[in-house]
Amino acid sequence: MTELLKEIFGRAKMEDRAYLMEHESKAVLESLGISTTGGNLARSEEEAVDAAKSIGGSVVLKVMSPQVVHKSDAGGVALDLPGPEEVRGAYRKMMEAFAEKEIVGVAVQEMASPGTEAIVGVARDPTFGSILMFGLGGIFVEILQDVSLRSIPITEDDADSMIRGIKGRALLEGYRGRSADIPALKRLLLQISDLVVEHPEISEMDLNPVFLYPDGYKVVDARIILGDPPEEAEAGPAKVQDLRELFYPKSIAVIGASGTRGKLGWNVFSNLISHDFKGELYPINPKAESILGVKAYPRIGAVGKPIDVAVILVQASMTPEVVRECCDCGVKYVIVESAGFAEMGEEGRKIEEEMKAITDSRGVRLLGPNCSGIINTHCSMVQSIGIVDALSKGNIGLISQAGVCAAGMLWGLRHIMDFGIVATIGNKLDINETDMLEAVSADENVEVVCMYLESVKGGRRFIDAARRITREKPIIALKSGRTEAGKRAVASHTASMAGDDLVYSAVFSQAGVIRARDYEHMFNLARAVSKQPFPEKEGVFIITYAGSLGVISADAVIDEGMRLAELEEPLKERLLDLLPEYVGGTNPVDYTFSMDAETVKRTIEIGVESEDVGSFIVILQAEILGSYVEPLGKVDYRGKPIMVCVAGKEFAMDEVIRMENAGIPVYQTPEQCADAISVMYRHRRSSR
Ligand code: ADP
Ligand code: MG
Repeated sequence: MTELLKEIFGRAKMEDRAYLMEHESKAVLESLGISTTGGNLARSEEEAVDAAKSIGGSVVLKVMSPQVVHKSDAGGVALDLPGPEEVRGAYRKMMEAFAEKEIVGVAVQEMASPGTEAIVGVARDPTFGSILMFGLGGIFVEILQDVSLRSIPITEDDADSMIRGIKGRALLEGYRGRSADIPALKRLLLQISDLVVEHPEISEMDLNPVFLYPDGYKVVDARIILGDPPEEAEAGPAKVQDLRELFYPKSIAVIGASGTRGKLGWNVFSNLISHDFKGELYPINPKAESILGVKAYPRIGAVGKPIDVAVILVQASMTPEVVRECCDCGVKYVIVESAGFAEMGEEGRKIEEEMKAITDSRGVRLLGPNCSGIINTHCSMVQSIGIVDALSKGNIGLISQAGVCAAGMLWGLRHIMDFGIVATIGNKLDINETDMLEAVSADENVEVVCMYLESVKGGRRFIDAARRITREKPIIALKSGRTEAGKRAVASHTASMAGDDLVYSAVFSQAGVIRARDYEHMFNLARAVSKQPFPEKEGVFIITYAGSLGVISADAVIDEGMRLAELEEPLKERLLDLLPEYVGGTNPVDYTFSMDAETVKRTIEIGVESEDVGSFIVILQAEILGSYVEPLGKVDYRGKPIMVCVAGKEFAMDEVIRMENAGIPVYQTPEQCADAISVMYRHRRSSR
C-alpha cells in the first residue's frame, strides 16, 4: 500500500468513519493515474480564492464534511464560479449553511466541461464478492437501471462486454457530436477492479458522475466506502473435485431400503433393481431378511464388504449416527436423501452441522441432505426418490438443487432427451453446485450441462470453473428466486443497484453460462445443444409449407439478431428448378402446402452448399411429420444445425419423438427455433 493510501485509510479508521470524503477518494484515484477534477482542500476564504486562481478559469466549490454524504442535496455544491468574487460569495454561503456541521474545509476544483455522464461503482455481493458496475448517469441509471455488472477481478474482455452491454451504448459511440473514449474507459474499469483486488477493505464505491469525452474522461465526484475485508466465502477446496466413484460406484448400500411398496425406501431400491444396476447392492433394514429378492442386513456394519456409496433414507434425527457408522465401515460417499434439515429450521441445521463434522473429520464426501441422489444412465444407476422409467444413455448432464425437478421431469423428458448424469445436490451441505459442475462436466459421456439453481455457494470459484468448462461443454442454467430482491442496507448508489438477480445474470454472462428463462427454455436449449452442432455463421435458411409461418420465422430470426441467408446465384437457380412456379422468394422458401419430404431434403442439400447458410429452420406439417423423419435424418448437414418447427406438435407426439430420436429437435414455434439458433451462435462466438 502506498503511503498516501495508508494515511487516508488510516485517518478514516481513526475517526471511525466508514467512508472517504470526496477529496480523499479523489486523492486515492489520482495516485493511480485516474483523471479527476481534483479537489484541493481550502480551510479559509483566502485559501479558496488562491486555489481558484491557481486552477484558472471557472471553478466549483464543494463542502467537505464527514457528516454530509450527498453534497448537492444539502446545498453543498456551487458550480461554475468564474472569478474571485463568486468564489468568496459561495464560500461564505456554504459556511453559513453548514454552520451546524463539522466541516473539514471546502474542496476547490476545476469546472469540467460537459461530457457524457457515466457512473462507475463497486458493491459487495454476499455470494460473489466485489462487483463492478458501469452505466450511463442521470436517468439512465436512476430510472432505466441500464447498468452492467461483473464480478471483480475483471478481464479486458469483461471490460469490453460491460461497455457494450448497456442499452445506451449508442450514446458512447457517438451521438449529437458527443462520443466517448472507449479505450480510456476500459482502462478506468480495469484500474478500479485492480484497486479493489489490492484493497479488499474497499467495500463500496461510487464514481458518480464520470464525464466521458471523445478524448479521455474526468471523474467529477467520488466516494469510497470502507468495510472489513470479506471473509473467504465457503469456496471449498480449489482443486477439481474427483467424484468419479460417486458416479460409477461398484457397490451401494441403501440404508432404510424397504420392501413395502409406496415407501421412499422401496422407490429408491426398486429403481436400482429395475434399471439393472450392475454393481453390488446391500439393502439395510433391521426388520427384513431380504428386499426385492436381495439379501438384507440389519446395519451397514454387518455387510462386511467394501462399500463405495451409502444412500441414507432414515429420518433426520438418526442421520448423524448412521453417517458415523458409514464412515466406520469405510464408505467413500454418503448420500443423504432424507429431508428435515436446514430447510426446516434451526434444529435441522444443527443436525447438518453434526453430520458435516463427522464426514469432514473422516475425509468422506457427503451429497445432500434433502436430495434425490444420482442417476447415471451409463452405469444403469438410478437412486431417485421418485420412480423413474427406462432411460436411454445420453450426453446431457443435469445438476439440480431440487430433487423433484430432476427425477420428476424425466418421466416425460426421457422420450425426447437423453441424459447422462443427473445429480441432485439438495442442501449442498458438503458437495456444492461448483464441485458438482466440475465433476459432471469432467465425465466423458457428458457434452452439455444443465443446472437448476436456487443459490450458488461456490462464489467466485463458480465463475472461474464455469468459464473454463463452458468453452468445451456449454452450461445452461436456470436460476430461480429472481424476485427475492437484495434488501440489504447499503451506503452507495451502486450497491442499491446491484440486486441479486442482476448480479446472477452478470456472473452467468461473465462465465459464458447460458441463462434460461424457465424450465421449458432450459430443456429446449438443451435439446438443441445436445443434438445439433453450433452454427458458424449468422445466415439462417428457412423452409416452410405456409407463407405466414415463413414470415413469422424471418421476423424471429431478425429479432434474435441473426439474419436471412442469401444464396449464391447458381444455388438460387437450382432452387428455382425445385420450386413450383407460383411460389416466390428463395429465403424463406415457401412450398405452399405442396411440400414433400424428398423436396425438402433436396432444398436442404442446396442450403448446405451455400457459404452463407449457417443453420436451418424447417417448418413442417404435423399431420405428415412422420414422412420426414427418415429423409431428414439422412441429410449430410456438414456441421450446420437444423431446427424443426411443428405448430401443434403436442398432437403428433409419436412422430415428434421419432424426429427427436433421429437427432433433430422439434419446437412448437418459429421463435423457439430462432432463439435456439441465436443462443448457440452467440455462445460459440463468445467462447472462442
Ligand atoms: P453529490 O455529492 O451530490 O453527488 P457531486 O459532486 O456529484 O455531488 O455534484 C453534483 C453535480 O454537480 C454532479 O452530478 C455534476 O453534474 C455537477 N458537478 C460537480 N462537480 C463538478 C465539476 N467539477 N465540474 C462540473 N460539474 C460538476
Ligand atoms: Mg455525485
